[in-house]
Amino acid sequence: MSGEAGFLTTKLDEMLGWARKYSIFSYPFVTACCGMEYMSVSCAHYDIDRFGAGWPRFSPRQSDLLLVVGTVNHKIAPVLRKVWEQMAEPKWVISFGVCATSGGFYDNYATVQGIDRIIPVDVYIGGCPPRPEMVLEGLMLLQKKIASQKQELF
Ligand code: SF4
Repeated sequence: MSGEAGFLTTKLDEMLGWARKYSIFSYPFVTACCGMEYMSVSCAHYDIDRFGAGWPRFSPRQSDLLLVVGTVNHKIAPVLRKVWEQMAEPKWVISFGVCATSGGFYDNYATVQGIDRIIPVDVYIGGCPPRPEMVLEGLMLLQKKIASQKQELF
């Protein structure tokens, strides 16, 4: 009997993982020039819709993916943290571009040297700015991660 229950739980996990990875609602937290590549990847040529992630939401409460796009300075860091806190579980974060990931070449007193000092990050995308293909690859990595996670029912 316990074997059957285990089988059912595994199947439910797989189904939820599949559903979650193809129904991503992103919140674009766009602060700088990487935003141009975000727009590029969202439009018809690269068509992020193909991956089930085409619909940005501008309320953190309706989003499950926080896309941090561009430079984050210390002044805006508490706002980023607040947006992340307002998102419901399950939630994921992609760091989009080298500035969000490590501060990039803004190695100075004003710039956060990587958003993982403020919030947890699931996938890092390098590049200044990243090519749209890199963004799609990052998204696919996240989808793999989502599908392989234990699926909590919140
Ligand atoms: S990584 Fe490059 S393109 Fe992106 S925000 Fe920083 S300076 Fe701008």
